[in-house]
Amino acid sequence: MPSALANSEAEEFLKEFRRRNSDQAEFIQSVTELVGSLGPVLKNRPDIRAARILERLTEPEHIFAFRVTWVNDAGIPQVNRGYRVQFSSALGPYKGGLRFHPSVNLSILKFLGFEQVFKNSLTGLSLGGAKGGADFNPKGKSEAEIMRFCQAFMTELANHIGPDKDIPAGDIGVGSLEIGYLFGWYKKLANEFHGSMTGKGPEWGGSNLRPEATGYGLLYFVHAMLAEIGQDLPGQTIVISGSGNVAQYAAEKAIELGARVLTLSDSTGYIHDPAGVTKEKLEFIKQLKGGRRGSIEAYAKEFDSATFIPGQPPWQVKANIYLPCATQNELNGQAAKTIIANDAVIVAEGANMPATPEAIEVFNLSTMLFAPGKASNAGGVAVSGLEMSQNSIRTSWSLTEIDDRLKIIMKDIHNKSLQYGRDQAGKTDYVKGANTAGFLRVADAMLAQGIT
Ligand code: GLU
Repeated sequence: MPSALANSEAEEFLKEFRRRNSDQAEFIQSVTELVGSLGPVLKNRPDIRAARILERLTEPEHIFAFRVTWVNDAGIPQVNRGYRVQFSSALGPYKGGLRFHPSVNLSILKFLGFEQVFKNSLTGLSLGGAKGGADFNPKGKSEAEIMRFCQAFMTELANHIGPDKDIPAGDIGVGSLEIGYLFGWYKKLANEFHGSMTGKGPEWGGSNLRPEATGYGLLYFVHAMLAEIGQDLPGQTIVISGSGNVAQYAAEKAIELGARVLTLSDSTGYIHDPAGVTKEKLEFIKQLKGGRRGSIEAYAKEFDSATFIPGQPPWQVKANIYLPCATQNELNGQAAKTIIANDAVIVAEGANMPATPEAIEVFNLSTMLFAPGKASNAGGVAVSGLEMSQNSIRTSWSLTEIDDRLKIIMKDIHNKSLQYGRDQAGKTDYVKGANTAGFLRVADAMLAQGIT
């Protein structure tokens, strides 16, 4: 247990922090979660409190906010809000994705940027943390509209990014199509071809395995968690939420490793396929979500083995492993109780902060293992880091080489989580482990670099 002194210091910090950011619920949630793990660190390392590391780390180094104006296919001018939050450069150039979704606001981007700092730290690579995006909804837009929006967005963003400064990538609503348009416009404005973005196509500077990396990495992490409790993936049943990039490749790797994927979901509901999603069925999902971004209900119409349950998340379906891969706060305390009642052994986050604080509390009181996204979904940004290295030395590593490196990085993150998160009874608190390991690397770099 953290000492009373450490707790009071954390509480004192949080009180002022909450006052200053009172309108930013998601940001407060992510900072509270991190600081909640740091009791022992604050007790043992008075130098961290003395240097006001928490106060400095919770204030982004830069925030850029800008108007994005573009013209839709009907000729009507449109206005969106664009942002880039450059959170921390303690460990390397700013790095993190762009999210295009109507829910995007500063609180969401600050929570995502904050998470990114510690996630990137855990990868062991030289990456600072950032996040950006816009309240633009790509759903239902034509490709020409998406291109015009991306160009208008990049016209504003271009001044702030660069291969040694800030390297954006994708996130929700920003996939290979958007990265292509964003990178193309950046290249035109800068009149230089360099690694200013990751997630590029493999033929024009992208890395092998980048699209697959978050989902595959999640499964490598789950594999390491299972090994700790003497289990393996073949025969396990898995509930996955979401059907975007992370969910698709988590499902792909789970199937390849012999597990049975029972569900996938989107904002309209979920599909339950007791026979298991196969590689062929997954191809249908990739097509469905790749182009028109149609409702997942189409899966149940296509395959007799599946049913579509509208308007609900998939948590009531019984399985051994649950992988929330959709979005923040999609899994609440009630859902967590259902998952425990279903006798789950593992919940591992593929999305960023999908479990609410109440859900994490429920998991902590159980024997089940829970992995936070900053550890279990770090595979995506890790391969982005490898893409940056390949761009710098103008080379391309093979698929096997990247896959091997990804496996090593995920195993290493797992080991760090054990190192700082295992209690005397042998149970691992992955939240505490990942937060502590991620934080210490950043804090030590900040201490070494002086007051900046
Ligand atoms: N958006 C991803 C994440 O949440 C990837 C970021 C990147 O590759 O820079 O980690």
